[in-house]
Amino acid sequence: MARWSVWLFLSLAVLFGPLILVRQNSNVVIFSASLAGRVIAVDPGHGGVDPGALGPDGLLEKDIVLDVALRLRTLLQAAGASVVMTRETDTDLSDSALGRQYSRRKRQDLERRVRIVNESKAEILVSIHVNSMVSARWSGAQAFFAEGSDEGQKLAQNLQEALREYLKNTNRQVARGDFYMLRQSNCPAVLVEVGFISNPREASLLASEEYRRQLAWAIFAGILRYWQR
Ligand SMILES: [Zn+2]
Repeated sequence: MARWSVWLFLSLAVLFGPLILVRQNSNVVIFSASLAGRVIAVDPGHGGVDPGALGPDGLLEKDIVLDVALRLRTLLQAAGASVVMTRETDTDLSDSALGRQYSRRKRQDLERRVRIVNESKAEILVSIHVNSMVSARWSGAQAFFAEGSDEGQKLAQNLQEALREYLKNTNRQVARGDFYMLRQSNCPAVLVEVGFISNPREASLLASEEYRRQLAWAIFAGILRYWQR
């Protein structure tokens, strides 16, 4: 650890009390325990009968987002936060008795996710998705917030900044998004599209464990910044 970072660690320790050290690649990053006691909802989109966007070689949105979400949960819990997941396995939240009535199942699934978030009294919601377009040319992670939510916008901006900084592969800016989860949740909420599965280069990144780890890290860093500012 460089001398300046030791001093930073010590002064933060004096200011904020307990600290955590997290190792990312070869860098040791120091955080104050600003997430201790926070309640954070993490929503891995899709699952079960709903695969989400489809990529090459059987790559599915539902699997990518669950993996990133579980990695994010580990980081948040290490920082002392209490994490509420809308799903932890490859399942959707609808009644399987509805069979192939997929649009009804989708609605029920989303309603139940929102109920979990709102009943948990989560302070923020991060919903994780993968983007897809007909054209292969688009790429880059992007955070969306609900129209009229200043806190949601602030959260999205912090996440976007961290995504740009850590992934170093996009200049995307935050955008308003008309998503059910964002509209219906009672807390500041963001929907992060972690990349485009329709872009071959990005699809292969999304398939890799290392990149998913970086994604989780960037989202974690963005959440931390949101409360440190
Ligand atoms: Zn999705």
